[in-house]
Amino acid sequence: MEYQVPRKFPTTVVGSYPKLEPAKQALRKIRKKQASPDELRGLFVEAIRGVVEDHLWAGVDIISDGEQTREDMVVYFAERMNGYMPGEWTRIFDNVYFRKPIIYGKVEWPGPLTVEDWKIASSFAEGRPVKGILTGPYTMLEWSFDLYYGDRREAVIDLAKELRKEIEALVNAGAKYIQIDEPALSTRPWKEEADIVKEALKIMLAGLDVKKIVHICFGKIEYILPYILEFPVDQFDLEFKNSNFRLLPYLKEYGYDKELGYGVIDVHTTQIESVDEIVEDIEKLMKLGILSPEKIYIDPDCGLKRLPREIARQKLKNMVEAAKIARQRW
Ligand SMILES: [Zn+2]
Repeated sequence: MEYQVPRKFPTTVVGSYPKLEPAKQALRKIRKKQASPDELRGLFVEAIRGVVEDHLWAGVDIISDGEQTREDMVVYFAERMNGYMPGEWTRIFDNVYFRKPIIYGKVEWPGPLTVEDWKIASSFAEGRPVKGILTGPYTMLEWSFDLYYGDRREAVIDLAKELRKEIEALVNAGAKYIQIDEPALSTRPWKEEADIVKEALKIMLAGLDVKKIVHICFGKIEYILPYILEFPVDQFDLEFKNSNFRLLPYLKEYGYDKELGYGVIDVHTTQIESVDEIVEDIEKLMKLGILSPEKIYIDPDCGLKRLPREIARQKLKNMVEAAKIARQRW
C-alpha cells in the first residue's frame, strides 16, 4: 500500500513534535535513572503513534516520528555514541540550559540509533513515507566540547563517517527521505565552514538512492547561501516565516535551483497561521519565478517541539489546506 505523495507542493514536517504525555513520562524516568529507554519502549511507542495520528489527521504527506525519544537533538546521539561522555549543564541563552556533551575519544557508531523509532512511525503511517532524520556531524561537533580531536575538520569528518552507518541502516530499513539537520551552520556562516559540511555530506550521502535533504534554520542563512549551493543534496529545508521571508530575494540572486523545503509556519509563536496567509506566503515564492511547484515542499520553519500539541496540530492542518489550494492555483 504505497501512498502517492502529491507531485506539486508536497507537505512535510521538519521533525520534532511536542512531547506527548507518555514520552514525557518516559524521559522523566530516564533522567532520574529509574528505568532504561528499553524498559520504557511501550511508552515511546504510544507517543510515536500519537504523533503519527496527528500528522495523518492534518494530512501531511511526508511525516516523522516526532523525535519523541530525543530529549535533545545533540545529546540523544552523543549519549549513545562511543567516544562521547555526558557534560555539565551549560546555559545556551536566557534560561535554556543543556548538558553539552564531551568528546573524549574516537567517535564510533554503536549500532542503529533512530531506526527503531522510524520503523514504529512507519508501522502507523498508513503507507505515508517517514523521514529518516539525524543531527549532522557539524552540529554534533559545534554543540559539544572536543577534548580529543583538536581539529574541527577532522572531528566532523570522523563523525560523518560514523553517521553514514546510521543513514545506511535507515536506508536498509526502507527510508526514502534522509534529512540531516545542521542548524549550527547558520551560526558560523563562512565559506570554510560550509566546505567542511560539504565534505561531510559527500561522505554521508554518496551513492545512496534516496531523497537527500539538509535542514538549516535561523541565524544568517543568507550569508551562507552562496557556499552551500553545491552541497551534494537534492533539497534544502529552510526557515522563512520567522524571518519574514528575508531570504527570498537571495534565492533569486544566487540562482537557487534545488528543491526547497519552504518554511511557512513559525514555530516560535502560538499564533496559528491562517490558510489564506499561508497561500499568500506560497505566492511570494511563486512570484520569484525560480522554482516549479514540483520542487517546492511546504513545511514549518523548524521542529514543532516547543509548541503546545493542539497548536502544532492546527498549524499543520492549515498548512496542508493551503498546499491544496496552491496545487489548484499553480
Ligand atoms: Zn531547525
